Amino acid sequence: MDKEKFDVIVIGAGPAGLTAGLYAGRAGLNTLILEKISLGGRILLTEKIENFPGVGKEILSFDLVKNMEDQIKQFSNVKILFEQVKSIDFNLKRVYLEDEYCQAQGIIIATGAKEKKIGVKGEEEFLGKGVSYCAVCDGPFYKNKDVAVIGGGDSALEEAIYLSRFCQKVKLIHRRNAFRASPALQSRLAKIPNIEIILNKAILEIKGKDKVEGVLIKDNISGKESLVDCCAVFIYVGIKPNTDFLKDSIQLDEQGFIITDETMATSQEGVFACGDCRKKTLYQIITACAEGAVAINSFTNYLLRK
Ligand code: NAP
Repeated sequence: MDKEKFDVIVIGAGPAGLTAGLYAGRAGLNTLILEKISLGGRILLTEKIENFPGVGKEILSFDLVKNMEDQIKQFSNVKILFEQVKSIDFNLKRVYLEDEYCQAQGIIIATGAKEKKIGVKGEEEFLGKGVSYCAVCDGPFYKNKDVAVIGGGDSALEEAIYLSRFCQKVKLIHRRNAFRASPALQSRLAKIPNIEIILNKAILEIKGKDKVEGVLIKDNISGKESLVDCCAVFIYVGIKPNTDFLKDSIQLDEQGFIITDETMATSQEGVFACGDCRKKTLYQIITACAEGAVAINSFTNYLLRK
């Protein structure tokens, strides 16, 4: 039997990949979506979404992903396969999996990003023993306890606010004296009495015996070291794109984000990228979704030109 040839293969099923799948489904394209773990990607690491249009005041991340999945499942021309991509032959438009390959006329890369590590002593050692990168997954273990959150971006502030609802105290540690998170989040944070803001502190070490007992910090001005007592540390110090498997085959920036033009075209013909794996200025669900739509539109135009 001949191997099925798809019109398009979408790699990754976060908001960008799922929207690409939806637009491909509606365009009648024979589509394969490949996903390594579960539909939704990084948005499932957060509890609620408040800045996606049309969902009212807020929506649970899980519900938003479920809605996206249900929307795609209307289209019999869109197949979802849970497999990890090992490599891509861009000339043949072949995507290699563990034991087989899939082929298409074009490829959309929507592999997203993962959390960055700080790289201090104790971070790896206490992973799962108090060190976490997901407040929604692990926060409930620390009900009525003191926890620390590290970072000063949207993720750190959002997750500190989430943890403050059930932890006794949330100690938010940031390396500078100003947050880079949105003003809206900063003003919400300022009103929460059980969040202690600890600014201008470098993280030296995560301390403990069998599990996390504190974070050793150093004041950036006085150089004085001190220990922040806590049972858990939630780390939100930025994101790293999931593009290691693309090295040397497609144009990336120095941090590994995929470089595209405004049509989402990459340096490889017939290959488009969208979402958090892409170099851009605004990393949001709404921009990821918009880019997924643009990528499929550009792919359709590419097919017409071919
Ligand atoms: P981010 O915006 O890059 O912020 C990372 C934070 O970690 C910064 O405050 C940074 O400090 C700090 N940091 C970096 N390396 C560090 C280190 N080694 N030690 C201590 N602190 C360190 O990352 P993010 O918050 O994960 O957000 C990623 C993207 O997703 C952003 O574009 C963000 O806007 C977006 N996002 C949006 C939403 C939303 O709209 N609801 C929610 C989450 C994320 P400096 O400030 O000093 O650099």
